[in-house]
Amino acid sequence: MKKSQTCKHCGEYFTPNRRGVQKYCSNSCRSLAWRKSKTKPKENTLAGIIRKEKEKKQAETSTNPKDKISFAGIANATIGSGIASIAGSLFTPEENKPATKKDIKALQASLLKRYLPIRNMAPNAKGQYPYYDFEVKVVVFR
Ligand SMILES: [Zn+2]
Repeated sequence: MKKSQTCKHCGEYFTPNRRGVQKYCSNSCRSLAWRKSKTKPKENTLAGIIRKEKEKKQAETSTNPKDKISFAGIANATIGSGIASIAGSLFTPEENKPATKKDIKALQASLLKRYLPIRNMAPNAKGQYPYYDFEVKVVVFR
C-alpha cells in the first residue's frame, strides 16, 4: 500500500480509501479538524466576525455571572421594597403614621398659639391645668 496523501489535521502520510476525497488519515482526525474549524473560524468572513462578537459577548457575560446575579438581586430587592413602601403609605391611614419631628413641632406650635397656660389658676379636680384657648376665647383644662 502506497501512502500518497497527508492528513489535513495531523500531517501524517496515509493511504486514502478513495483517492482525492479523503482529507484526513482517520475519523478522529476528521472530527478533530471539524471541531477546530467550528471553534476557530476564519476571522475575515462575516460568519467568523459574528461568531467572534458572540464569543466576546459570552465571555463578557460569563466572566462575572455572580455580579450579574447580585445586581439583579439588588434590583429586585430595591423594586420589592419600593413597592412595599408605596403599598405601606397607600394603606396606612394618616392618623396611624408615626409622628415625625416636624409633625410634633407643628403640633407644639399650634398648641402654643391656641392655648396659653394660666399661672394664677389651680388645676381642676381631674388634675388638668388651665389654659386660655385663643380660638374659642375660653379657659380650658387640659
Ligand atoms: Zn490525521
